[in-house]
Amino acid sequence: MPAVVIVGGGAAGVATAASLLARKPGLDITVIEPAQTHYYQPGWTLVGAGVFDAARTARRMDAVMPHGVRWLNTAVAAFEPERSAVVLADGRTVGYEQLVVCPGLMLDWAAVPGLTETLGRNGVTSNYRYDLAPYTWRLAQFLRGGTAIFTQPPLPIKCAGAPQKAMYLCADHWRRSGMLAAIDIQFCSAAKALFSVPDYIPALERYIDAYDIHVDFEQNLVSVDGEARTATFAGKQGTETREFDMLHVVPPQRAPDFVRASPLADAAGWVDVDPATLRHKRYDNVFGLGDAAGTPNSKTAAAVRLQAPVVAQNLLHARGDSAAKAGYDGYSSCPITVERGKIVLAEFTYGGKLAPTFPGWFIDGTRPSSLAWHLKERVLPALYWDAMLRGREWLAKPLPQVSS
Ligand SMILES: Cc1cc2nc3c(=O)[nH]c(=O)nc-3n(C[C@H](O)[C@H](O)[C@H](O)COP(=O)(O)OP(=O)(O)OC[C@H]3O[C@@H](n4cnc5c(N)ncnc54)[C@H](O)[C@@H]3O)c2cc1C
Repeated sequence: MPAVVIVGGGAAGVATAASLLARKPGLDITVIEPAQTHYYQPGWTLVGAGVFDAARTARRMDAVMPHGVRWLNTAVAAFEPERSAVVLADGRTVGYEQLVVCPGLMLDWAAVPGLTETLGRNGVTSNYRYDLAPYTWRLAQFLRGGTAIFTQPPLPIKCAGAPQKAMYLCADHWRRSGMLAAIDIQFCSAAKALFSVPDYIPALERYIDAYDIHVDFEQNLVSVDGEARTATFAGKQGTETREFDMLHVVPPQRAPDFVRASPLADAAGWVDVDPATLRHKRYDNVFGLGDAAGTPNSKTAAAVRLQAPVVAQNLLHARGDSAAKAGYDGYSSCPITVERGKIVLAEFTYGGKLAPTFPGWFIDGTRPSSLAWHLKERVLPALYWDAMLRGREWLAKPLPQVSS
């Protein structure tokens, strides 16, 4: 029986395995992950804007698995925490001494009738899929006029700024190419405000005005007719069907079904962990992090960067292998690409408390910054591949435990 089983080999699973091995070389770890490819999803925004090639955001899974980890290339189908076991898709069971649950979240494309069959065609795209992000850039380049609609589903979603990032970068391209006046840009968001942390809203509103974007809040995409190029929204005034020439969709998102249906889930379906320790509230030998965790932070890879060392330390403490416990304060970061070359760098902890990494004279997160763009384009991908996934905890020092 492996000492530690990690469910999911995405950002959180690989970072946690690497952080565990950095602290305890030789620890017996099995990662269960069905995919052959590991994606750097934060790069997809830049793929959709023609800044990155898609291939730059993908690596073979075996190349990112830390040395010494056993990788089971299959999916987990169910959890049996009472007997410390997971059930695999083929019916086999794998026991564990300790479990880390991080299978990400489910993009529920099928929840919007008509959407799946038209994705990648008829002007319908999404930066939330590796194969579609290049289509966003093609559409942006070829659109010469008409209506471009960008949607945002109800929260929580991964990277809550990403729906706007896609929109601002397209708008900026149209401004530079002289097309902006000919394109009616509409942002249809299920939220009640542009961003959950009010301090960042004024900077975003200036871009909404500059690009002349029409914003409608509390609008939820409920169906798409690709051939007719229409999208239907449910809102306060009932349903409304809008015509489009380009439609960038961010799909509804929810906890994966096999988590939702398990004893590990909270009432909303996410992994029920303590927000500070990331240890399961009922099963002491289970931890959870990343997009699947039911913690009230914004779901980002930046959050994972801080969470993985905390899980590593607390898991080892529970085994008697580490003296110190660690705490997570809800840190998350959302680099909002407001134009090519400039970013509003939102960084905050639980409760929307601002948590800037850099002094204000270097990067003031509430204002567009070209240094922050440089960080996103050049520094963060390297920080992800070469530090976070390898147990080098740069900009990720765990806090002392803040509560139990
Ligand atoms: C368009 C876009 C833009 C983004 N921008 C940013 C950004 O600018 N900054 C930022 O910090 N974050 C950003 N993010 C969010 C970030 O990518 C995620 O928050 C992060 O990847 C979460 O890590 P995770 O390990 O929880 O999930 P993932 O990285 O999604 O990994 C989950 C893994 O679990 C595996 N899995 C699924 N089901 C099972 C199963 N049944 N059994 C075993 N394994 C399973 C999957 O195959 C996958 O490999 C963005 C995301 C998108 C889509």
